[in-house]
Amino acid sequence: MLNFEKSKQAFKESSQYMPGGVNSPVRAFKNVGGDPLFIEKGAGSHIFDIDGNEYIDYVLSWGPLILGHADPKVVKDLQDATTRGTSYGAPTLLETELAKKIHEIVPSVEMMRMVSSGTEATMSAIRLARGYTHRDKIVKFVGNYHGHSDSLLVDAGSGVATFNVHDAPGVPKDLAYDTLTVAYNDVAGIKNVFKAHGDEIACVIVEPIAGNMGVIPGTKEFLQTLRDLTTESHSLLIFDEVMSGFRAAYHGAQDLYQIKPDLTTLGKVVGGGLPVGVFGGRRDIMEYITPDGPVYHAGTLSGNPLAMTGGLSTLEQLNDDLYKQMFARTDELTRGIKQAADDHHVPVTVHHVGTMWSYFFNKGPVNNFADVQKSDVDYFAKFFKALLQHGVYTAPSQFETNFMSSKHTKEDIQKTIAAFNAAFDDVS
Ligand code: PLP
Repeated sequence: MLNFEKSKQAFKESSQYMPGGVNSPVRAFKNVGGDPLFIEKGAGSHIFDIDGNEYIDYVLSWGPLILGHADPKVVKDLQDATTRGTSYGAPTLLETELAKKIHEIVPSVEMMRMVSSGTEATMSAIRLARGYTHRDKIVKFVGNYHGHSDSLLVDAGSGVATFNVHDAPGVPKDLAYDTLTVAYNDVAGIKNVFKAHGDEIACVIVEPIAGNMGVIPGTKEFLQTLRDLTTESHSLLIFDEVMSGFRAAYHGAQDLYQIKPDLTTLGKVVGGGLPVGVFGGRRDIMEYITPDGPVYHAGTLSGNPLAMTGGLSTLEQLNDDLYKQMFARTDELTRGIKQAADDHHVPVTVHHVGTMWSYFFNKGPVNNFADVQKSDVDYFAKFFKALLQHGVYTAPSQFETNFMSSKHTKEDIQKTIAAFNAAFDDVS
C-alpha cells in the first residue's frame, strides 16, 4: 500500500483555511471517499506527490497540459518572459501573436478577446450574444458545464453533477429562468424549445463534444440541428470548446463536424497551463465589444504576458504528427481498458474522441446525462482508489474526462493497461 501520510497532514491543515481544503471542489476527492493527494512536481506524463509516490497522470491539470508537465520549451519561454516583468496592463506584441495563431488553427475565430479562465470566456460570450441580439433567453444542455457564472450554472455537469447541486443555490431565480435546458443529443427536444421560444433566444451554448459528464460526443444530426435552428431564428450558436479545442481534434470539434459556430470559447490548452480563456468568432459580432461597441468587457490581467507566453509556447509546438501519435495512444489505451473490463466481466462503456477519454461503469449506451447517471458510482470510487495504488492518476469522478499528452509513451500505455487489469483484480 502506498503511504499518503504527508498528503493527509497537508489536507488537515488546508481544510482549516479553504472550504473542503481545496480551491475547486472535485480536487477534494470527497465523492470517492478519500483524501486528495498534494502534488510536489510533474515531469512529462508523470506527477509526484509530497509523499514521494509517482503516478502516470491522465488529469493533466484537467486538460491544459497537452505537452505534459514542465515541457522544456514552455518552461524556458516562461523563465525568459518573467525576467521582463509580469504584467503591464498595456498592449503587447504577444497578444496579437497568440491571436494570429489561434485564428490560424481555428479560422472561425476572426476576432477575439483574451480572458483569464474558461468561465470568463463563456460568461462574456453569453453577454455578447444577449447584447447583439437584444434577447435574454439562452439555451444550454443538461450535463454540459460552461464554468460557474450564474446564467450557466443550471443543470450543469462536472462538479455540479458530482456533488448533486443542480438547483445551484445562490443563483437568482429570475436569472435561471432565462436559461432553458434540454437533454444533450435530443433533436426533438431542441426543436420544441425553438418552436415555443425561437424569437426570444439569444444563443445556444453547447459542448460539441461533452466532456463534463465523461466524454459524450454530440451527434452530427444534433449539432447540425442547432446550427440550422439558430440561423433560422437569428440567434447565435456558441461552441464551448474550452475542453474540446486543440483536444478533440487539432482544429477543434468544429473542424471534426464541419459546422461553423458564430462564437467559440476556448480555455485550458490555449494557455498551456497558465490562466487563459478566449472568446471570439464572427467579426461583426465581436465588434459589439467595448470600446468600439456597447457590450462591456474588460480585465486587469486579460492578455497577461506570462499567460500569453504559456499559450504561444504550447500552440507553436502542436502539429498534425503530434496529434496522430496522441490519437493512436488514446486508441490503444481505451481498447486495452475495454478488454480489461470484459476479461473481468465488468460492464463498462469506454468513449474517446481525439485525446479525450473516459469510462463509465454502465453497459451503455451513454448518450446523455440520464444515461451517465445509471453508472455505478460506488464501484467507480473503489476502482479509482485501486488505480491510484497501481500508480495511475485519473479524474476522480465519473462525470469528468481524462486526457492524453504528447509525452505519454507506449510504455506508459502498457503500464496503464496493466494497472487497470490489476485494479479490476483488486475490486472485482
Ligand atoms: N467550459 C468547459 C467546456 C469546461 O470544461 C470548463 C472547465 O472545465 C469551463 C468552461 C470553465 O473553465 P474554467 O474552469 O477555466 O473557468
